Amino acid sequence: MASKSFAPLDDPLRSSTGRSKKRVAYIYDSDIGNFAYETGHCMKPHRIRMAHSLITNYGLYKKMELYRAKPATAAEMTQFHTDDYIKFLHLVTPENASTFKKEQDHFNLGGDCPIFDGLSDFCGISAGGSMEGAARLNRKKCDIAINWAGGLHHAKKSEASGFCYVNDIVLGILELLRFHPRVLYIDIDVHHGDGVEEAFFTTDRVMTVSFHQYGEFFPGTGELRDIGVGKGKHYAVNYPLRPGISDESYKGIFESVIGKVMEYYRPDAVVLQCGADSLSGDRLGGLNLSSRGHANCVKFVQSFNLPTLVLGGGGYTIKNVARAWAFETGVLLDVPMDPALPFNEYYGYYGPDFMLEVKASNAPNLNTDDYLNKITTSILENLKKVAFVPSVQMTEVPRKSLGISDEEEARENDRDDDEHKDVRQTQHRMDKMVSKNNEYYDDSEEDEDYGQPHF
Ligand SMILES: [Zn+2]
Repeated sequence: MASKSFAPLDDPLRSSTGRSKKRVAYIYDSDIGNFAYETGHCMKPHRIRMAHSLITNYGLYKKMELYRAKPATAAEMTQFHTDDYIKFLHLVTPENASTFKKEQDHFNLGGDCPIFDGLSDFCGISAGGSMEGAARLNRKKCDIAINWAGGLHHAKKSEASGFCYVNDIVLGILELLRFHPRVLYIDIDVHHGDGVEEAFFTTDRVMTVSFHQYGEFFPGTGELRDIGVGKGKHYAVNYPLRPGISDESYKGIFESVIGKVMEYYRPDAVVLQCGADSLSGDRLGGLNLSSRGHANCVKFVQSFNLPTLVLGGGGYTIKNVARAWAFETGVLLDVPMDPALPFNEYYGYYGPDFMLEVKASNAPNLNTDDYLNKITTSILENLKKVAFVPSVQMTEVPRKSLGISDEEEARENDRDDDEHKDVRQTQHRMDKMVSKNNEYYDDSEEDEDYGQPHF
């Protein structure tokens, strides 16, 4: 039961060896910090630039490969989203927004999801980073890919939601599904990962697992009893939490659930959304995780040695977001990090202590052991039903293309990289896919009103 496994937290600061056998690709576009939602909006893309500055000043860039991804095109975005929605995102500006009142309402723009300068470029960078990370994992160019500008889990097929417009996570997972039969999505943002869950609610090829604050809290979904439908029944997992959960409690439930998910579902690849609004002291979130408690999830997932796409997400006390994501980059690289922050261009944000750690507060943990045990037991009972059922895991899938030697494969991969830097898919890569484009999303019936996008 959850309460029995509340072992002391590992100390990632001290247990590091300074060496990592993992090849980590880090995707960053310096334009990201220049976007601003609107004055006073709590979602600040600047936090990603702050995290990057810490990552750079800790010297972590020397241990990983840095990439600036090709922004996602409108056509790539429509692999999940509807054409009319993406067309509108590229058309609307703060200047012309007033002439599109009806469309704004239709696509849930305005309010929490304001129309700001460069909106479609911002979405392109976020989504392009997650797609590129997935594509590099597919090509075995890295073991872990990081895109802190991704993780925008609330965006729906034809609707913005909760500060999210384009769902980079769904697009990244669709990319992974081309080469991986089963993808596990884990969401540790304080909010329910509703957009991703909804996208894969009816399939067993993606299991979504979300831990989130629940009860009079955005977006209001993510009940324990929501477990997927049809072929996807039992492949959606929701862990509703009350405010104030501590590092120890979170470690207990996270490791119990994810350990069993790994055992029963046996994913081929993992996408981990590291929303930092689950940290103590977040402007919107009510949980009480320290940066160590948050990073413990990253470390635990990494211990399964699966190809992993690591993404950002929410996080509204921005100095703590930058701290957490810099620390987690170090954890993924297994690099020891000085508890005192290095000097950097945003040093003034980190006063008065100028330390790396985000500490938990003395807020009460409203998640009793009894409550957590009941939820964990119920989830583990459901998970047993995904084991040994005839599903995709029984299907033979060729891991590499047939009739091609390892050397030829490596040569083709290199050729793809050298000659096709500007495209994510080449014929060689397409030939290696295990599923077809748009296997899950046939939008033909929804395109009738609007036709194909022209932009
Ligand atoms: Zn969130």
